[in-house]
Amino acid sequence: MNNVKQCPKCGKFENQVYDGKPLGFVGFFCQDCFLKDTKFYSTEFVDKLRHCPKCSRTRFSGEFETTTSGKIARWLFTKIKPKFPIKSYNMTYKFAKSYLVVNISFIFLVNSTPVSKSDVFYVPLDSNACTMCNRVSGGYHEALIQIRSSKPTKIESTAKKLIRFIEQDSAIGQIIHLKEGLDIEVVDKRSAIAATHSLGISLSTSRTLVGQKAGKRLFRQTILVRV
Ligand SMILES: [Zn+2]
Ligand SMILES: [Zn+2]
Repeated sequence: MNNVKQCPKCGKFENQVYDGKPLGFVGFFCQDCFLKDTKFYSTEFVDKLRHCPKCSRTRFSGEFETTTSGKIARWLFTKIKPKFPIKSYNMTYKFAKSYLVVNISFIFLVNSTPVSKSDVFYVPLDSNACTMCNRVSGGYHEALIQIRSSKPTKIESTAKKLIRFIEQDSAIGQIIHLKEGLDIEVVDKRSAIAATHSLGISLSTSRTLVGQKAGKRLFRQTILVRV
């Protein structure tokens, strides 16, 4: 047994096989003892993560945005502050009522030795509807897009294009089917303007006074799209 590493904690030898696999060593210690005694990251979360259960968007910082597993991972890593470089990871996640449950298997590089570690994180959630969803359910809309055409297929394809564009960063309210065309309520005025301009056709717009809030007059933008 010359020059064979022995773990000073548990006495196991590096060249022996335990449970059908060779025991890895990290520095002086066997991988089991190393994993038991080393803190890889923090598991405490100070703030709740904002997640809207209606549109499934999450506020990782500043604004609500589409939730993806890559964004969750990046956010999580800034919170848990891993002590070793992450070589790779495998992750699944699930939004429960008051927790985001994240299952991760990491491979860390510890002094250039790959070390695997799996964990489950319970991130506390604030699951109230976002402002946009609240506005939609309250019927709030800053703009009304009126699509008019003699061809029903034209109306439909234009509506599809506009809705796809708007739903990237805002939301639509009601869609009203009329004899002469289609009206689409849009929560955010800027988004309605950007979407209709993206069609590259001439538009006519008008404003209607719809009320007052904190001494300021509130207008609704109506955008007429003839296709
Ligand atoms: Zn050991
Ligand atoms: Zn929402």
